[in-house]
Amino acid sequence: MVRSYSIDSSDSPYRIYPIRGLLGYFHLLLDASRREAVVIDTGLIGEMSQLARALKESGLDWPDIKAILLTHGHIDHTGHLFQIKQLTGAPVLAHPLEQAHINGTFPYRGLSRVCGALEAFGRSVLRYRSVAIDEPLHAEMELPYWGGLRVIHLPGHTHGHCGFYSQRFRLLFSGDLFASYNFITHLPPAFLNSCPEYFDASLDRVKQLSPKLMVPNHYFKFDAEMHRRKFDALLARRKLDLGP
Ligand SMILES: [Zn+2]
Repeated sequence: MVRSYSIDSSDSPYRIYPIRGLLGYFHLLLDASRREAVVIDTGLIGEMSQLARALKESGLDWPDIKAILLTHGHIDHTGHLFQIKQLTGAPVLAHPLEQAHINGTFPYRGLSRVCGALEAFGRSVLRYRSVAIDEPLHAEMELPYWGGLRVIHLPGHTHGHCGFYSQRFRLLFSGDLFASYNFITHLPPAFLNSCPEYFDASLDRVKQLSPKLMVPNHYFKFDAEMHRRKFDALLARRKLDLGP
């Protein structure tokens, strides 16, 4: 059985299935009231059987996935993109600045060239195939999935990095804005970031949004309240780092 979580009550039609992969998680969001789902990101390698099981347990089939939302185009978020698109026929929604990442043509500079080299290796091993964005996302766009999701543009990790915010649950799917592990919560390591100069503005945007719950992609344990608290601690630490 694939474990799933509800936010409001155990019989809620809105459920989250974290799909565990090698480097992190992606999420299947079920809206049972409409017999449909969306995915946020698509994993790296080997997660398809879990996703198929989660769908089956929800009483859904591939075409019931109505959209593929991408927080950004790094390969650990787009590994199964081609396959999921083939199976579902669902549109791919991402910020247009992520197309170069999805295509593997982003011109990495400086330290982040390490990220580009790792991705290039991954793409050849996985026989990765690129997919075109069908619906370009922009900041504050409202999407009709899972009771309503708002696009929150949070650049820093990549230029087009976006989170998805459920007003209904005050829950932010925060992508790779930060990683939240038991003993260490941190911004992504420097070599993975294309435009770190935007991080502070993105952290401020989340502070202003004030979500009650946060779900990143890199964590050990699904606990959206804990991730929110860890995000607060990270903000406090970062303030200290920056000095008065
Ligand atoms: Zn990433």
